[in-house]
Amino acid sequence: MPARMGNYESDGKRSIPCAGCMVAIKWIPVIFIAAVIAWSYYAYVVQLCLLSIENTFEQIVFLIFYHIICILFFWSYWNTIFTPVGTVPSNWHIPEADIEYIFHADTQDQQKRILENFAKALPVTNRTLNGSVRFCEKCKIIKPDHAHHCSVCGACVLKMDHHCPWVNNCVNFTNYKYFVLFLGYALLYCLYVALTSLEYFIRFWRGDLNGGMGRFHILFLFFVSLMFAISLVSLFGYHIYLTLMNRTTLEAFRAPIFRIGGPTLYRCVCNGRLNGV
Ligand SMILES: [Zn+2]
Ligand SMILES: [Zn+2]
Repeated sequence: MPARMGNYESDGKRSIPCAGCMVAIKWIPVIFIAAVIAWSYYAYVVQLCLLSIENTFEQIVFLIFYHIICILFFWSYWNTIFTPVGTVPSNWHIPEADIEYIFHADTQDQQKRILENFAKALPVTNRTLNGSVRFCEKCKIIKPDHAHHCSVCGACVLKMDHHCPWVNNCVNFTNYKYFVLFLGYALLYCLYVALTSLEYFIRFWRGDLNGGMGRFHILFLFFVSLMFAISLVSLFGYHIYLTLMNRTTLEAFRAPIFRIGGPTLYRCVCNGRLNGV
């Protein structure tokens, strides 16, 4: 009787209701963020700078710095969304004939040997809990170190950090730099908007801010930018910490297991220090 694939990912079949609907739903968070950015642009440029600020010099300075930060923010967001995910090179794919051997092996040890033999020529050091080479049943590949199968993208992704619904993309090897920059510039954008609108926010409560209903844009602009800034501080700080530790979000929750040192030993990726059982 063929051995059961111990820690490998199951080959469960799921029925997808409508591919087009699923694609549309996945873009909703991105459209929401884009709408918030577009509204904040209108509220800042038109309602605050052009209609509320009376000093021309202050208007120009605020607008110049705002547009520099805005362009950097948008550029990093765009690249995080549209940079294609890093997929596994073809030489990591296991030929069909070998796949049959793996699936119909009598024991797990036999499977382990076949995979180990195939991975001999590959630069792979991570192992599964039972000490076997990491293998994806769905993609039929040996998983490179840091790579994981993303069920949303439907593929194994290089140095997968997490699948982010706010960018409708996997944060991975190819776009991690853009993602961290996006968090940094988004934080800078929110702080800049909050600090430069603070004076006019106070004047709103004092009742000496002109502009009719447009004043409420400034009120919400301050609140929304402050709210996003608070949540971005922790997220940006966490990813700076992960970058310094050379870890992904997935590895922060489950440490990788290295071949050297035995299957039960966990090694910190950053400095090689043994810190496991
Ligand atoms: Zn896969
Ligand atoms: Zn993904």
